Amino acid sequence: MKTLIEPKKEIPVIAETEVLVVGGGPSGLTAAIAAARTGVKTLLVERYGCLGGVLTQVGVESFAWYRHRGTVDCEGIGREYELRAQQLGFTRPEPQSISQVIDSEGFKVVADKMIVEAGVTPLYHSWVVDVIKQGDDLLGVIVESKSGRGAILAQCVVDCTGDADVAAKAGAPYRQRAKDQRMGVTVMFNCSGVDVKKFQTFVREELKPTYADWGKNWTIKTSGKEDNMFSPYMEEIFTRAQQEGVIPGDASAIAGTWSSFTDSGEAMQLNMVYAFGYDCTNAWDLTQAEIAGRQQALWAIDALRHYVPGFEKARLRNFGMTLGTRESRLIEGEVCVTDEHVLQQGRCEDSIGIFPEFIDGSGYLILPTTGHYFQIPYRCLVPKKIDNLLVAGRCVSASVIAHTSMRNMMCCSVTGQGAGTAAAESVRQGVKVRDVDIKALQETLRQQGARIH
Ligand SMILES: Cc1cc2nc3c(=O)[nH]c(=O)nc-3n(C[C@H](O)[C@H](O)[C@H](O)COP(=O)(O)OP(=O)(O)OC[C@H]3O[C@@H](n4cnc5c(N)ncnc54)[C@H](O)[C@@H]3O)c2cc1C
Repeated sequence: MKTLIEPKKEIPVIAETEVLVVGGGPSGLTAAIAAARTGVKTLLVERYGCLGGVLTQVGVESFAWYRHRGTVDCEGIGREYELRAQQLGFTRPEPQSISQVIDSEGFKVVADKMIVEAGVTPLYHSWVVDVIKQGDDLLGVIVESKSGRGAILAQCVVDCTGDADVAAKAGAPYRQRAKDQRMGVTVMFNCSGVDVKKFQTFVREELKPTYADWGKNWTIKTSGKEDNMFSPYMEEIFTRAQQEGVIPGDASAIAGTWSSFTDSGEAMQLNMVYAFGYDCTNAWDLTQAEIAGRQQALWAIDALRHYVPGFEKARLRNFGMTLGTRESRLIEGEVCVTDEHVLQQGRCEDSIGIFPEFIDGSGYLILPTTGHYFQIPYRCLVPKKIDNLLVAGRCVSASVIAHTSMRNMMCCSVTGQGAGTAAAESVRQGVKVRDVDIKALQETLRQQGARIH
């Protein structure tokens, strides 16, 4: 590849903080709130104009769709989001669980309010593009924004970018599966003009969908108990639409789930486009995936209008602000959470939280109907090699099946709370993140409402 040398230039230090959180998705929002609530000076940098990550930017509203009677759930800041959204009127019933979806627009306001109340300093519209290091110590990051390029210095940084951008830039080891093996990407869309009652009658009396119907793009292995459970999933009509020439025959990426409906006939979170083979850390791939995904979403709407009672007059209302990435870089941590750990109720001395046995992705679906749960080790948030850096969210250190559990938004909140609190502890204790006193960390987490064991 042709290259050139960027000239050196002097840039302003735009902020200095004790804890810096990069990325404001379920993990970063939670990490920032958790750190600030312990009293340390906390700054949160986010590349877009709102917090919430995939929830608000992609439009994935089913925050706790795993929850069934019998689920032993985590506690902590993630649960506060559900309550707060409900109080502000930003929830609707989720169709396949005993949870509520969180409205993706409303949550932008919930997140704004919660960080202000916690005392976090937010900086939106700013991309972290590089790191400042001395040896293996991370001293801060470089951001680019409309204001130009600037440095932010921090005693401890929490990488919640989803893609482990900070860790990768800092030289922390990570792994990434080949792009044709990764989970697919999705352009999420919402429709207006739906006759919801008519659709629900069709679902109840004709479609009768279950998890056993998943197969085209989302081939899944269940534990068996899921097969006859209701799942808001549609596949056959899209195949028919292709066979009968209603939509082009190459729309192989179309099939998937619907979620909630608004009172005014909007079908939200239509997760019906699923495309493989893209690397979401590559801007060229992201560009192609956005363009192809939007086209496939329009074909999906054509098929829905043609075959599905209640959708005859449906129209595109909006796409997510950006496509959704399910999988990219995963750091190599001091500990890697193994598939066995998640599937066999793993326990650990350094637990920072729990999450139910909920597996979703890479060909597996297990719902936590049995009360099984696993503990999350602190050391899966601690990257090898680099100091003053923690990682939370979907890029923590985990093997394939474990990742499909830990990438879920509620679990990202659990790792976010663990990382934010640990970052604050490292500042307060005056030690590196890998030397944080675990008992003191666990005690602070307990006081902050997390469930450790
Ligand atoms: C299509 C799709 C459907 C899904 N369905 C569900 C579901 O139903 N239920 C569920 O629980 N989970 C679901 N997931 C998974 C879940 O949404 C994500 O794994 C989760 O949101 C990850 O949280 P995170 O905080 O790690 O990252 P993200 O939510 O991706 O947040 C990362 C944040 O960091 C910001 N950022 C990134 N890079 C930078 C940078 N360099 N500088 C500054 N800011 C940066 C981003 O703008 C974003 O706000 C789904 C995911 C997708 C893509």
